[in-house]
Amino acid sequence: MHKVTLIPGDGIGPEITKAALAVIEATGVKIDWERHEAGIPAIEKFKDPLPQHVIESIQRNKILLKGPLTTPIGSGFRSINVALRKEFDLYVNLRPAKSYEGVVTNWRDLDLIVFRENTEEFYAGIEHYIDPAKSAAETIGIVTRTGSERILRYAFQYAKKVGRKKVTIVHKANILKYTSGLFLDVGKAMSKEYPELETNDKIIDNMCMQLVTNPNQFDVIVTTNMFGDILSDLCSGLVGGLGMAPGANIGAEAAMFEAVHGSAPDIAGKNIANPCAIILASAMMLRHLGEEAAAVRIEKSVAKTVKEKEHVTRDLNPLKGVGTMEMCQAISANMG
Ligand code: NAD
Repeated sequence: MHKVTLIPGDGIGPEITKAALAVIEATGVKIDWERHEAGIPAIEKFKDPLPQHVIESIQRNKILLKGPLTTPIGSGFRSINVALRKEFDLYVNLRPAKSYEGVVTNWRDLDLIVFRENTEEFYAGIEHYIDPAKSAAETIGIVTRTGSERILRYAFQYAKKVGRKKVTIVHKANILKYTSGLFLDVGKAMSKEYPELETNDKIIDNMCMQLVTNPNQFDVIVTTNMFGDILSDLCSGLVGGLGMAPGANIGAEAAMFEAVHGSAPDIAGKNIANPCAIILASAMMLRHLGEEAAAVRIEKSVAKTVKEKEHVTRDLNPLKGVGTMEMCQAISANMG
């Protein structure tokens, strides 16, 4: 029996996490869930978006499955997603972008992995107005050698372990000569330790253009925090949108699994959200817990269900879309 902290989230979070729990249960893997609120629901109940008892639960269990959490724009509390990554030093953000038969895209057979540094640079929260009149604002993005080394090491090691062929380091070292330059220098030096992997580097603007014109040239992508955030959404767009994009946030002590997409307030409560991203994130979680067979069963079943196009949500089949729970039931049934 595994013990896992669960934050269902808000918006579409409760609907899609309910679906994910049902699919995990169908694998037969036993999980004792410790369910907690964070973000807006926690403010309503506890007047704190990330209460101490939630932090303690994650500290105890070391694994978190998290639904999306709304972050107020401009003012209000800072992102709980970012706070969790910082609190548990989840420095690796691993976001696969894989094309599935049955999902309409311009690109077939894509199987990319974006590794995003998850703790430094412009997400460190060091920002302020420079004067009381708010005439200008400043954000400080710090990139460290240690921070760069650990994410690059993780990406190279992962690529080697799973038999990937190529690693692309993405940066803006022509302009950000110190921050991006440091990341690139560390990556280039480390690549010499992995002669079995082809390594290249791309400037972020060119990378975006190359991704939308010829994405099949890429395999594993590793980059700093903000470029990684943007590129991973771009890559999920290449494979048909956010509905199929899972993500893992991994540190030395704890790991958090979630969908790449947000709380989608525009479709919340309508039973039309695609549950695949969080279901695929649950498969990543099971793999992390050593439940490889269950992870593979979920991934195969999602692929089968999506390919059949019969029991999928309307983002995948606008003419015959079914509800979130119906799609989840089809995925569970397709596991056999
Ligand atoms: P979003 O990802 O919530 O939605 C973008 C678009 O994609 C919307 O049209 C939405 O309906 C659609 N969409 C997203 N998930 C879907 C799904 N599973 N099935 C079908 N359609 C789906 O992005 P947003 O609107 O920019 O953000 C909404 C809120 O979510 C914001 O407060 C943002 O800060 C937050 N957010 C949270 C996380 C997280 O918890 N990790 C990540 C991103 C955004």
